[in-house]
Amino acid sequence: MEQINEFLTYKEVQDYLKISESTLFRAIDDSANPLRVTYITEGSPRIKLTDLTEWINKQNEIFKKLLRCVSCGSIVKLEDFKDRLSKKEWTISQFCQSCITKTFDKGKDE
Ligand SMILES: [Zn+2]
Repeated sequence: MEQINEFLTYKEVQDYLKISESTLFRAIDDSANPLRVTYITEGSPRIKLTDLTEWINKQNEIFKKLLRCVSCGSIVKLEDFKDRLSKKEWTISQFCQSCITKTFDKGKDE
């Protein structure tokens, strides 16, 4: 099972939040609630998962609603996804991991 990196690329954050690059940059530059960027090496900006979670928690309810599973209504956390394919599925169907498993992996492990 692939583990979620504690440090996320801009692309991973964009896919999870379903936002454009310019929206992400606005979030990073937001004076009221800036999304913190960590440079693991020079020229390699990453968003720490804990910083992202903290940033989301400070967002309003309208924003948080976008992070709910359309099937069961639970809050979708990036760290809940078991692999890259599931993360991609979230960007398409807006299903959480357990709903993805229920819908697409039926009987696969039996
Ligand atoms: Zn769900």
